This record gives sequence, C-alpha cells and structure tokens, in this order.
Amino acid sequence: SLKPNQLKALPKRQDSNTMPCSNVVHVVERLKEQRERRRALQAEQRREKNVLMSKDPDNPNWEVALMVREYRDQLVLRPLRNISPRGARTQQITVCVRKRPMSLRDREAKSVDIISVPTLDSLIVHELRNKVDLTKLLDHHRFRFDYTFDEGCSNKLVYEYTARPLIRTMFEGGNATCFAYGQTGSGKTHTMSGEFSGKSQDCTTGIYALAARDVFEMHKKDVAHKGAQITCSYFEIYGSKVFDLLVPGKPQLRVLEDGRQQVVIVGLTRTPVSKVDEIMQLIERGNRVRTSGQTSVNIKSSRSHAIFQIGLVKPGDWEPCGKCSFVDLAGNERGADTQSASLQTRREGAEINKSLLALKECIRAMSRHSTHLPFRGSKLTQVLRDSFIGGQQNKTCMIAMISPGLGSVENTLNTLRYADRVKALVAKEDELT
Ligand code: ADP
Ligand code: MG
Repeated sequence: SLKPNQLKALPKRQDSNTMPCSNVVHVVERLKEQRERRRALQAEQRREKNVLMSKDPDNPNWEVALMVREYRDQLVLRPLRNISPRGARTQQITVCVRKRPMSLRDREAKSVDIISVPTLDSLIVHELRNKVDLTKLLDHHRFRFDYTFDEGCSNKLVYEYTARPLIRTMFEGGNATCFAYGQTGSGKTHTMSGEFSGKSQDCTTGIYALAARDVFEMHKKDVAHKGAQITCSYFEIYGSKVFDLLVPGKPQLRVLEDGRQQVVIVGLTRTPVSKVDEIMQLIERGNRVRTSGQTSVNIKSSRSHAIFQIGLVKPGDWEPCGKCSFVDLAGNERGADTQSASLQTRREGAEINKSLLALKECIRAMSRHSTHLPFRGSKLTQVLRDSFIGGQQNKTCMIAMISPGLGSVENTLNTLRYADRVKALVAKEDELT
C-alpha cells in the first residue's frame, strides 16, 4: 500500500512531464537531494536533542545548550591560534578580550558556554531571553576588539598580542601599562601572575614573568642603557590604601603629590634585580603576602588592585626613566545583593566602581592627548598618573576577562560594554587624526 507522502508525490511527477525531459530529471533529482539533506539534518538535530536530553534528563539548561549549539554550527570558527609572522600591531591603546574555559564547577552546575569567538577580533554573547509566551530565544550580541582570545589560547599567546608589544616602550623613555579587567573568577590573576594547579600557582606562566624575561632580553641588547638597573615593585590598593607586597606584614604606604603634580608612593620597595629568577621569587613572595591570612584566594584579593612594576633606573637616579606596570584590577562585579551586603562590602564596591570609572576617564584623556587628566578621581589613577600623561610615548593595553557561563551573562555584558567604551573612545580619536 502507498503511504500518504508517496501518494502526494505521484501527481507532482506527472505534472512535470510537460517540461523538457532532461530538465525534469534534473529538477526532480535536485529536489530529492535537497529533501534528503533536509531530512538528514532534521534527524541529526533530533538525535542531538535526544542525546542532550537523555544524557542530562534533569539538566534545566538543555534547551539553551541546544540553541547555542545550533547557532554555533552555522558559524565558521577561525579563532586565533598562532602568533602571526607580522607580529601584533602596536597602537597607543589596545583593547582585547579573553574568554576563559568552562570550569569543572561550571559543568557541575550544568551551566552552558554562551560565548562564541568566531575570529581573532570578534565575539558573540548568546543571551537567553524569555518571550511573553514563555518560549525561549537567544539574543546574539556581537562585539569587535583589537584581539579576542577564546578558551584555546594560552597565556603565552595572549602575552604576544597584548603586553609584549609594549615592552620596548620602557626603553624608549615611556611608560607601558597593561590592565586585567573583569569579574572575580574570570581569569585576571591566572593571566597576570600565572596558572593555578589546585591552590599553587606557577608564576613562570604569567604575563608578569613573560614580560620580565623579555625586559632582560631587551636590556642585554640595549646599548643606550648599558649601566641602567632593572628594579621591581609590587603593591596593592585596597579601598584608598596602598600596601607594599614586597615587605612581610604588608605595611601601608603614603601617597604624596609634589608641587609639580608628581605622585610619590613614600617608601615603596624598589628591589634591584639582575636575572629572571629573582623576579620570579619577588612575584611569589608578593603573591604570598597578598593572600596571607585569607582562607580563599578570592575573598580579599578580589576587592583590591595589585600592581606589579618593572622599572629601568639610570645610574645615580632614583626615579625610573621608563616603566612597565601590570595591573590585576579588583573584580568589577556589582554587589549583586546590595540589600544583604555589609556596609563594609558596599563601601568597597563603591570605591572599586569609582576607581574603574576614573580609569576609563584617564584612558579617554590619554587617547585625546587632553591637557586635563582626571587622575585624582581615585587612588588607582593617582598612583598610575605617569601611565596616562605625555603623549605618544606611553602605551596602554586592556585585557577584559570574561567567564563563559550562562550565569555570568550580566557581568560579561557589563565587562564588554566597558571595554567597548574604552575602545570606542580610541577609535573616535583615530578618526580625528
Ligand atoms: P580572577 O583573578 O579574575 O578572580 P582567577 O585568575 O583566579 O580569576 O581564575 C579563576 C579560576 O579560573 C582559577 O581557578 C583559574 O585557574 C581558572 N582559570 C582562569 N582562566 C583560565 C584559563 N585561561 N585556562 C584555565 N583555567 C583558567
Ligand atoms: Mg584574582
């Protein structure tokens, strides 16, 4: 007996007999092919959906996972994998984004990776929206930056495109500054001071150490600074207080400004170093001091900015003639539950917010070569004043870190919008000049 779809198919074939024979065969075959392909695709999607559902019968997010998967399947993914032979572009201000991989905790919570990085300079956030009739749909937010790093990019690769191009700046009498921005848990410390394995951290894999290595390399070849000394400082800003991380007990330091607006951190340790290993030891010591007395790495340290500086000091001078600063910024997350947060926590949050806004304003002033620099807006921008002044010889890079999980979407969008505004300010400036 004939099935309904076969019945329907018969008259169609008879109709098409009025066309020239070769054409008919061609058209019918093409239609048949298309139909088969469509059916195969549908079957495949059904199968995937079943797999997702059967694997995780109680996964509340299977539908989102499937929607993201279907969208991503249509993308041609060409993320950054190798260091380009041309090397990274050097601009005065570079803004990049790094997505960290899904963590074990993300997976256990059945979270879904909602970030796609299709190319080396673009990124898509798939935001889940509920329609009025309660059906789900995804909003796809596209962003563009100088570089975007997906979960397959190593610290080394990130370093090559962000901090590395800035290193020479300090040998040219300028200040280079690299910021890690983002919510707590997004990978700032992993990127800046090294990969964690459990609770211990391998500081040779962080940007501080990778930069230190290149500073020594460059110093060896640099005849103009033959007698100059390389020095290191490592300090922390908590609220509006500054603490030296290279001294046990973390003493508080005063910040003063002289008549010429020069900002001085009184008594800040500047340790002379002559090889990379010595810098590693300083970083390790500083990290230990930073987190000592804390039960978790992310309790207090996520509420403070950590600044690691490498300076080049000419013989007989005290102030460095060039500097690289690496800043592991405080978490930018808003106090999600401001009602229940303590007064102390809310104060901290307000202070952090203020410093991140001031930072954006200072980068804006820098990109415009503005004569007015609003560096007094926060302790952070005050101590980094000479990163933003002095025209083209200073260079800045911001790496915005994002967590890939569904639950972080709000913080992720906030982070990307902040970075986007920093970038937009710069782009505008490029158009003007
Ligand atoms: P933050 O300093 O922004 O609060 P962390 O650097 O402490 O975040 O990272 C949070 C966790 O995620 C750590 O356990 C870290 O090992 C892990 N992590 C972050 N970035 C990466 C990455 N690119 N690859 C692997 N693990 C990462
Ligand atoms: Mg951290």
